[in-house]
Amino acid sequence: MRPLVAHIDLDALRHNYRLACEAAPDSRAVAVIKADAYGHGALACARALSRAAKPAPAFAVACLEEAVALREGSVKAPIMLLEGIFEAAELEQVDALGLWLAVHSQWQVDALLAFAPRAPITVWLKVDSGMHRLGFPPPLVPAVWSRLAAAKEHVTQLHLMSHFATADSADERYLQEQMRCLQALAEQLQAPSCLANSPATLGWPVTHGAWNRPGVMLYGSDPLEVPNALSRRLEPVMTLRSRIIAVRELDAGEPVGYGGRWRASRPSRIGVVACGYGDGYDRHARDGTPVLVDGRRAPLAGKVSMDMLTVDITDHPVADIGSEVVLWGRADNGAVLSVDEVARYCDTISYTLLTGVLPRVPRRYHGAFCE
Ligand SMILES: *Cc1c(COP(=O)(O)O)cnc(C)c1O
Repeated sequence: MRPLVAHIDLDALRHNYRLACEAAPDSRAVAVIKADAYGHGALACARALSRAAKPAPAFAVACLEEAVALREGSVKAPIMLLEGIFEAAELEQVDALGLWLAVHSQWQVDALLAFAPRAPITVWLKVDSGMHRLGFPPPLVPAVWSRLAAAKEHVTQLHLMSHFATADSADERYLQEQMRCLQALAEQLQAPSCLANSPATLGWPVTHGAWNRPGVMLYGSDPLEVPNALSRRLEPVMTLRSRIIAVRELDAGEPVGYGGRWRASRPSRIGVVACGYGDGYDRHARDGTPVLVDGRRAPLAGKVSMDMLTVDITDHPVADIGSEVVLWGRADNGAVLSVDEVARYCDTISYTLLTGVLPRVPRRYHGAFCE
């Protein structure tokens, strides 16, 4: 069997969820598990978080299809559709499956008020407080709010929802601007709010509302540009692990891989690892991108291929065919290589690396209650 496996530590996931709760003790946390729980397996993650000492009271996904898959897997908790419906016909299933609905556009309000649900629907009215992506412009919000609040047959439990553009940054000016707009609305409407993503949950208590929406932090990625005492306690959930399948001995001056991008500056040993961009490992990884070989850092050497990548193991004389290679996550000896650090070498963010692990990489689940 090919040795590449994405190991998923469900105990670490529960630990990170508890950290989100600890960071915001007066809020409840909707666990964001869109995009197959950022590549970790939405069903397994939802089940693990449902069976925690303090179970997640709700989940959030991007679309109806993702919510249906969770219900089919017997996930019973409320599930929020972060972008609401994409067409009016979806309201049938929103009602039947007891989903929570974000409402960001006038056509969604009209569709909701033209639909007769069996039970009134929990609604999250999305305000565009500065992200300028989804949501109502603030001056329109009070009128939309009143209309929804008056529609008792259609709507129960109305909340304000918004999203931050810069919560990961140490520069708080734009976040404060968004907060001023949101606080004014929440006060005027006496509305419970749901604003905080992962960086706001960990870094900006002023944003904490009745509900928060942590996502990437649940998977152990530090969302803050400048880590803080809480974010440093995050545990990696995914370990992308493989092995060395061949070793080459090179003379100084010899190149490695496509285009010969890397060249040996000294007599070198190159470990060939079973993992490539056909598995989702980023082809933009630069020479020097760290991996862990038997729990010790070694640098990528040469361009990533579809099924393989190459690592300079000259300084790892014991490493050989069969040696463990961790692309990110935790090695057998306990050493950690954070997906955030790997992302920096690839000019990207942890989100794309985690969601990018392709289906051909088997997921293996570990921890209490894993099936
Ligand atoms: C994805 C998403 C989140 C979670 O964001 P993280 O940065 O992963 O914590 C929260 N809210 C909305 C609307 C989202 O789309």
